[in-house]
Amino acid sequence: MSGIFEIKSKLPGTKTSIFSIMSKMANDHNAINLSQGFPNFETDQKLKDLVTRAMEEGYNQYPPDSGVQVLREEIIKKIRSLYGKEYDVDSEITITSGATEALYTAITAFVKKGDEVIVLKPAYDTYEPTIKLNGGKPVQIQLKGDNYKVDWEEVRSVITSKTKMIIINTPHNPTGTILSEEDMLQLQNILSETDIILLSDEVYEHLIFDKEQHQSASKFSELSERSIVCASFGKTFHNTGWKTGYCVAPENLMKEIRKIHEITVFSVVHPMQRAYAEYLKNAENYLSLSKFYQTKRDLFLNLIKDSKFTYTPSKGTYYQLLNFSGITDENDVNFAERLVKEHGLASIPVSVFNINEKDNNQLRFCFAKTDETLEKAAEILCKL
Ligand code: PMP
Ligand code: GLN
Repeated sequence: MSGIFEIKSKLPGTKTSIFSIMSKMANDHNAINLSQGFPNFETDQKLKDLVTRAMEEGYNQYPPDSGVQVLREEIIKKIRSLYGKEYDVDSEITITSGATEALYTAITAFVKKGDEVIVLKPAYDTYEPTIKLNGGKPVQIQLKGDNYKVDWEEVRSVITSKTKMIIINTPHNPTGTILSEEDMLQLQNILSETDIILLSDEVYEHLIFDKEQHQSASKFSELSERSIVCASFGKTFHNTGWKTGYCVAPENLMKEIRKIHEITVFSVVHPMQRAYAEYLKNAENYLSLSKFYQTKRDLFLNLIKDSKFTYTPSKGTYYQLLNFSGITDENDVNFAERLVKEHGLASIPVSVFNINEKDNNQLRFCFAKTDETLEKAAEILCKL
């Protein structure tokens, strides 16, 4: 025992995030880092200039707790034009410290001891610890087949009187799959007779490929009345380190979310909010992203087409899963580690997001990288 008394952990089963582990390993071994999801190219100079300008103009003190008014207005305009939903600027939107805080506050505001929350696996790594921290119980459902489809009948079958919330994520990290309109309608139908809250993680809403349309929970009128939709400017505008995002929800839900937001961060970095508000005025700044990232996905897949990896092209996000069963029969965690140490390339083993850490021989690669980095990474992958 270290320390003078024993600590009983509130999250005994929770380990250090795989993103921290793999990025550290990449740094330690001077490897190409396609593990943690962040771009290795710069955010737009115009956006950096807008931040500088906001600082020079004196926007350096606390903004309102719900976020800067002009930013809330611009986001609401964007949602109206893309998804046809009208949120109230004063009571139905909050700017958060990244989507991470939005997800944390949304779960914490509603999940009580004994409540059940349906989580579709593989799932992003903050959902379940946050549910548990609040005394809730994650009810895991495995996504099915190579395309990681949701079995909606299974979802229906696990609903009980204790089900408080269901969490979805589209486009989906780590698989790069998306939910279709039909999926969302099925979900809407399943929830219609219940009091279940939908927490919709849409941080990759602008990164969607092959002419597919993002199916936001905001688009479906009945669904949106029970939904909290979370988004991330870090993901959208290539500046994950600015940790700014937001959530939108009907007023009765947002009122509770704000109570948690006020006692965790109160308000969020001010100059960035001013800059994003200005930058959002040009819709091209986000509408161009699908094409930009689809070109990167296609480049990466073309570069590895003669390798021994197999794959289904990602439909959204900036991740590509590659199956390595044609290369080795070691497990994904060991292979990922060896790939860094012996070959100088970092990825994310997908098993850490699965039920019982099931290994499907898949690694996740982030293609939000310069073409030069993708070329170097592909060269390594083709030699395996
Ligand atoms: N949800 C998913 C699915 C993610 O991949 C991430 C990582 N960006 C987040 C939430 C957290 O977003 P942020 O960096 O804005 O906190
Ligand atoms: N969302 C990013 C990913 O999936 C990482 C976020 C984090 O480092 N916590 O890689």
